[in-house]
Amino acid sequence: MSYAVKEIFLTLQGEGMQAGRRAVFLRFAGCNLWTGREQDRASADCTFCDTDFVGLDGENGGRYEAAALAARVGEIWGEGDRRLVVVTGGEPLLQLDSALIDALHTRGFAIAVETNGTLPAPEGIDWLCVSPKAGTEVVQRSGDELKLVWPQSGIDPAELAGWDFDHFLIQPMDCAEGQAALDRSIAFVMANPGWELSLQTHKLLGLP
Ligand code: SF4
Repeated sequence: MSYAVKEIFLTLQGEGMQAGRRAVFLRFAGCNLWTGREQDRASADCTFCDTDFVGLDGENGGRYEAAALAARVGEIWGEGDRRLVVVTGGEPLLQLDSALIDALHTRGFAIAVETNGTLPAPEGIDWLCVSPKAGTEVVQRSGDELKLVWPQSGIDPAELAGWDFDHFLIQPMDCAEGQAALDRSIAFVMANPGWELSLQTHKLLGLP
C-alpha cells in the first residue's frame, strides 16, 4: 500500500501527557470528518479543526511505501535514542496499518497516534490518544489518553469518564473565543479532578 502523507517534520510534542518530548510528526492526508476545505466546514461532522491535512504538498509530503516511509522518518529523527513518531492527520487510522507499524518498530520508534476514535486502532500502537468529536460514533474507547477539546456542545464528559483510558484531558479549543475556552477548561478541571488540563504548548512556543 502507498500512504498519502501531508508532511513529516521534527518538533516537540506540544500536547497531552507526552508534551515536551522530541518527536517526528507524521501527518497523513485526509480525514473522515471533514474534507479540509473551508467551504465544507459548516456542514462537516467536525467543525473546529485547526490543521491543514489536505494534499501531499507539505514538508516531506508525498506518497510512500511502508519501508520508505519508515526510513524517511528515521532520517528526520537522526541520531539519538527514545525515538518517538507521532502519527496524526487528518485521521491517521484511515491509513496506518500493520505493515507501517512493523516498519517503524524495525527502525526503533515508539509509535504514538492521535485519532478521532471513529475507527478501530490496529494492534501495535505504543501510545494511543483519542480525541472524541461531538455527534460522532466513537468505537475506540480504550487507550492511553482521552483528550477532549473544550467546550464542545453535544458531548457530555461524564459519559466518557467510564471509558478505558489512563488519562483524561481537557484541552481548550483553539478558536476566536480562545480566552473563554481556556477559562471554561480551567473551571471544568477545577470542578472535576479526574480530568487534567492539556495546553497546546507548541503554539505558545512558536513550534509547528
Ligand atoms: S477529526 Fe481531527 S483532523 Fe479531522 S477535521 Fe476534526 S480535528 Fe481535524
